[in-house]
Amino acid sequence: METIAYKCINCGGPLEYNAAKQKFACEYCRSEFTEEQLRQHFGNLDENLSEAVRSEEQTEQEREYGAALFTCQSCGAEVIAETGNTAATFCVYCHSPVVLSNRLTGQFKPDKVIPFKISDQEAKDKFRQFCGKKLFLPKDFISASQLDMMKGVYYPYWLIDSLKDGGISGRGEKVRRWKDDDYEYKETKTYRVVREGKIDFRGYPHTAIDDNNKKALKYVNPFNDEEFRPFTMAYLSGFLAEKRDIERDQIQSEVDNELKDYARKIYEDTVNDYDSFHLDDIYLSTLNEKWEYALMPVWLMTFKYNDKSYLYAMNGQTGKNYGELPVSKAKLAVFGALMFLLSSAVTFFLMGGASLL
Ligand SMILES: [Zn+2]
Ligand SMILES: [Zn+2]
Repeated sequence: METIAYKCINCGGPLEYNAAKQKFACEYCRSEFTEEQLRQHFGNLDENLSEAVRSEEQTEQEREYGAALFTCQSCGAEVIAETGNTAATFCVYCHSPVVLSNRLTGQFKPDKVIPFKISDQEAKDKFRQFCGKKLFLPKDFISASQLDMMKGVYYPYWLIDSLKDGGISGRGEKVRRWKDDDYEYKETKTYRVVREGKIDFRGYPHTAIDDNNKKALKYVNPFNDEEFRPFTMAYLSGFLAEKRDIERDQIQSEVDNELKDYARKIYEDTVNDYDSFHLDDIYLSTLNEKWEYALMPVWLMTFKYNDKSYLYAMNGQTGKNYGELPVSKAKLAVFGALMFLLSSAVTFFLMGGASLL
């Protein structure tokens, strides 16, 4: 497993990407560097890096066990990557960031990345706010140890640019009613409706990994695509990252259908002179299509409560969040008791009032 650990230019300590500052920071000597400064120092940030940064070891064990073993460059410990898709992680012993570079090269080199913008602290604050509105959370739910489970993960997405040509045909109806002294009249005019045109889809996202968090990833969309940067591994330093395990041919027809659905809505939205519209046919061909592989920032927290697991996810760029939260039965019981007290107090007051009469 080839790994990369970016070292501080001043002191050699591990460098992490700091989302709040949008810079690379060393927590030992407090130095901060821009991407340009790192490039000037290291040359390329992804390939042909010097030995000080890159280490290629354990390939024999890897072959033998099929596991992603690597040696931490900061403390020398042997570490196994959590899953087969892990592309960036931390040493479990000294917590130094490690990038597993051969999972990010060749066909798996992402085209672009949106660096984290929401910092670890901000993510935790937003989670607290999110929980604040929920009445029946278990008491220890936003404890420090729970908040430490919040993880910043770069998730793999496919981004699809697709230029379509096509159209729809159908029947539109216009209905007119009137009456005189004897009769009510209804006139229905039927029109053949055709709408045609090109539709240019840009950056349509589709998750490129098959895991349990897929649903949550849908809810934290969209990302602001103005903040894409050309991919460099350095942005992953200090975060977790996954590599894709879904290839284009596995989801091409699914994406075709989704885009066809959007196209139908776009065409139908232009049909508005009729009282009703019945779609007969939609035809769509692809003139041009480009798929790009991108990593997007997501804050994630999974938790178990009463044997059920829950998930909280937040867009690491925009802060849009989604969560399933547990309900505490004890708190619900207290609420029930309060309601009971409250209603008996009201009854008592009414009786008291009645006795005055
Ligand atoms: Zn330093
Ligand atoms: Zn270590």
